[in-house]
Amino acid sequence: MRINSLCIHGSGRPKDSGVMPAIQLSSTFYQPHDGTLGPWEYQRGGNPTRDAAERLVAALEDARYANCYATGMAATSAVFSLVNPGEKVLICRSVYGGTYRYAHSYFPQHQIDVEFIDDPSALRAEDLDPTVSLIFIESPTNPMLRVIDIEHLARIAHVRGALLAVDNTFMTPLLQRPLDLGADISLYSATKYIGGHGDLLAGAVITNDEALHEKFSFFRNTYGAPLSPFDSYSLVRGVKTLSVRLERQVQTTHRVIEMLSGRSEIVELNYPGNYSAEEELVQRRQAKDIGAVISFRLDPKLNKRAFLDSLGFIGYAVSLGGVESLICTPSTMTHEAYTQEDLEASHISPDLLRLAVGIEDGDDILDLLKHGLNNAR
Ligand code: PLP
Repeated sequence: MRINSLCIHGSGRPKDSGVMPAIQLSSTFYQPHDGTLGPWEYQRGGNPTRDAAERLVAALEDARYANCYATGMAATSAVFSLVNPGEKVLICRSVYGGTYRYAHSYFPQHQIDVEFIDDPSALRAEDLDPTVSLIFIESPTNPMLRVIDIEHLARIAHVRGALLAVDNTFMTPLLQRPLDLGADISLYSATKYIGGHGDLLAGAVITNDEALHEKFSFFRNTYGAPLSPFDSYSLVRGVKTLSVRLERQVQTTHRVIEMLSGRSEIVELNYPGNYSAEEELVQRRQAKDIGAVISFRLDPKLNKRAFLDSLGFIGYAVSLGGVESLICTPSTMTHEAYTQEDLEASHISPDLLRLAVGIEDGDDILDLLKHGLNNAR
């Protein structure tokens, strides 16, 4: 099956002939009396509705295994749980604020060394000291939309016996497949495009490595943050429309970029591949398109508040990947956990705005942004 069909049929046909998996809410499952165990024992360890969600998410990346968690952060925590005291983690400089919070606060408390890297694509294998066990990146990065060369990082990580994990939330499996590019682990805040409707928190970790998969199942059961049956159902339903949602979102994003590029009120515009010719090349090689998140700065002489006040349905809120267009100020919202020093090092200043394009009419989105820019003058 091709990717659009997989979005609809990737979890397989439910045994009860429904077109959707049944929501099995049972916390426990009756077992035979002969000492054997049935396919499901207790909901935290496994249940049929979550199995359907996991089959689907794995199928989208043509991967062998997926584990679904209660949130994207639980998925990130599962990946970070692979690291032991005395080891070191490399993370790209601009990364989701919750990921930064974990790495910046939790790792040092547990004798795990962490380094935030400005330009991971420039790393060479010899730059990785022997304690590095995990490289964790987002490409494009959040909220600067810098592109990182996944194939290159996978290569150097493996030379040094380290793992590469890619948070692929912004791209989705439809635009970029990290495992095909050599990454060991691909992970998602499925709260975003995969769920897609602003009514679900979910996370997924995908791998082809059986030993890693067993650890991710163990973490899910032991830390106790599995995806609930109802949310598993919502995830499956959300994915049914992922390809059509994303197609509209990406199309409109290109139009927004074209419009904003011609406006004198915009002093900086960030989208995957526009930072340099090298990054554009990497983005074209490793992803099918640029996604639907951009960031930009208004001319400081303009009235940012008037801009935001004039945006109509483009709501001022964190998150992305839903059907609604949303705009936010990363420095005080998604990235508020960053220290002042790290905000500055990451160029996440208070004037930076991040726009996540929704599926509303592209003409309406363009009209509202133009209206906002005119009112900001
Ligand atoms: N990764 C990225 C790129 C995100 O944007 C987010 C949330 O905004 C997360 C991970 C965390 O996901 P969740 O909010 O589902 O815990």
